[in-house]
Amino acid sequence: MNNIQFIRPTSIQAACEALKNPGFMPVSGGSDLVVKIRNGLYPNLEGLVDIGDLSPLNLIRTDENRVIIGSGCTMSQIINDRLMQDYFPTLVKAASTVGAMQIRNSATIGGNVANASPAGDTIPALYSLEARVMITDGNNARKVPIEEFFLSPGKTKLEAGEIIEGFSLLFRKTRGEFLKLGERRAHAISKINMAVSTWNDGRDHWRIAMGSVAPTVLRCPEAEEYLEKCATIDDAAIDKAAELACNTAKPISDLRSTSAYRKKMAGVLLKRSLQALTK
Ligand SMILES: Cc1cc2nc3c(=O)[nH]c(=O)nc-3n(C[C@H](O)[C@H](O)[C@H](O)COP(=O)(O)OP(=O)(O)OC[C@H]3O[C@@H](n4cnc5c(N)ncnc54)[C@H](O)[C@@H]3O)c2cc1C
Repeated sequence: MNNIQFIRPTSIQAACEALKNPGFMPVSGGSDLVVKIRNGLYPNLEGLVDIGDLSPLNLIRTDENRVIIGSGCTMSQIINDRLMQDYFPTLVKAASTVGAMQIRNSATIGGNVANASPAGDTIPALYSLEARVMITDGNNARKVPIEEFFLSPGKTKLEAGEIIEGFSLLFRKTRGEFLKLGERRAHAISKINMAVSTWNDGRDHWRIAMGSVAPTVLRCPEAEEYLEKCATIDDAAIDKAAELACNTAKPISDLRSTSAYRKKMAGVLLKRSLQALTK
């Protein structure tokens, strides 16, 4: 890592300008990137642009009818934020499962999403909350629905010189659950994870998203539509929704788990989530 330039810009514009240099990458908490650099994954890296300290990026704020979570907000910040706890518990629960305390104190939500890992824990939560990814190149801003942001594992719609500025959520009270299965109960990468969010605006809405069951996070539209048509969500309805989630999952077998186990667990996690949310 000796010959890598390290730049600490004081504005988003300056950061994006620096990122236009070939071989330059943004770094936020560094919890993921530094490990990968040490492991030799970026042999052509020329410079790191530290965006972790840029104050507009590490704020949670409201903007009319939306809540903006800055990309530089750490997991701990999200977990401890009162508005997040009251309005978006799915995201708080997802952030609570990321690594151990030291990781949660440095890992940012922007880094978690930019990594584009199918196992990234905040991603299904953001899907279930219908988040929009706010992208900037320092001069121009655009918003992309999170479901359209990922191209494949590790690949996103971000272009050179662009960063994630934040995530925009509709300011509405939701309830939610986030569950993940890993090798251990804590401090483990997900074999499969699932986020379920629900809200009522005169009628009940359900949003279900799962990770590690396809190249990118998947929504479960069949299970969502089924639940929204149910007059009561009883045990039989939960079983049916769980079956639909199993059918949606298209997992692979890899080092962490088998395809068959992941598919079965998609149903189990949805069942547990719905039981918790309907009791
Ligand atoms: C021991 C350990 C345990 C972990 N456990 C978990 C876990 O349980 N669940 C989980 O989901 N992850 C886990 N991770 C992965 C990692 O901590 C998270 O993905 C973290 O959220 C990344 O955020 P960061 O700020 O540290 O990103 P960084 O390491 O700074 O950056 C990661 C990537 O995102 C890019 N990037 C960062 N910020 C932005 C931005 N604003 N705009 C555009 N690109 C950006 C960087 O260029 C880099 O490519 C773990 C990592 C470690 C080392």
